[in-house]
Amino acid sequence: MARIQFLGAAKTVTGSKFLVDTGRTRFMVDCGMFQGAKNLRLQNWQPFPVQPSSVDHVLLTHAHIDHVGMLPRFIRDGYHGPVWTTPATRELTEITLLDAAHLQEEDANFANKKGYSKHKPALPLYTTGDAEKAARQLRSLDYGQVMDLSEDTRVTIRDAGHILGSGIVQVDLRAGSKPLRVIFSGDLGRYHAKILRDPSPFENTDYLLVESTYGNRQHPEEQTQESLAEIINQTARRGGSLVVPAFAIGRTQTLLYVIREMKSDNRIPDLPIYVDSPMAVDVTRLFCNYIART
Ligand SMILES: [Zn+2]
Repeated sequence: MARIQFLGAAKTVTGSKFLVDTGRTRFMVDCGMFQGAKNLRLQNWQPFPVQPSSVDHVLLTHAHIDHVGMLPRFIRDGYHGPVWTTPATRELTEITLLDAAHLQEEDANFANKKGYSKHKPALPLYTTGDAEKAARQLRSLDYGQVMDLSEDTRVTIRDAGHILGSGIVQVDLRAGSKPLRVIFSGDLGRYHAKILRDPSPFENTDYLLVESTYGNRQHPEEQTQESLAEIINQTARRGGSLVVPAFAIGRTQTLLYVIREMKSDNRIPDLPIYVDSPMAVDVTRLFCNYIART
């Protein structure tokens, strides 16, 4: 009898981690960091509820830090196996983990300089070296490619349409007399997004573990592009500059695409655009590479 344990993203939306034990193999789906309030962030410093060396495989749904952010620590604490994910998530994860390690190191340095941490010295959750080591354990699995983790466990990743490379993990178990399909949705995108494909449909699922971040809300049908064009035109008319804060992965690229589209349609003037974030620039380059390949 296979067992699933929820090790994060339960009663909260960050720290996504599932452990599946089929009796023949043990694997994790995601290895996310807890984010937000201090009591959640403190959980990242607790020992893992599972011995990392007892796990055979890790699968990642997508490169957001609440799904991959604890990987360097998991590896430092003893996980030696492969980390499977799509080629784009593999490249994005390397960028996000190095960025996260850098921020952790900066925070620890700052705490030591100002002396406000009760830990002497304050340490990062993990270092750049740990993140680099984690990146070396990443392995590619294309969308739709079938892979056997063990005699009784087959996995396939399908497009989740959430960010570049994002996946829905389909697990087919052959334990017992009848096959069993378990689906881990990961984070799901919306339909008809500008620069991503629609999420793939699930088929013949016995158990569905679905994200529910916005489960209690209805996304309004906003005329976002019209509002944005109006703001840009108003600002341009009075000779101002528009500063737009945007997430480095996904949102920045969508904004660039939409602004470019509005320029081509002459709905806004031909203004210069600057992306003031090395991480967002790296990720945009990656988006362009993958778009060129499809
Ligand atoms: Zn996400």
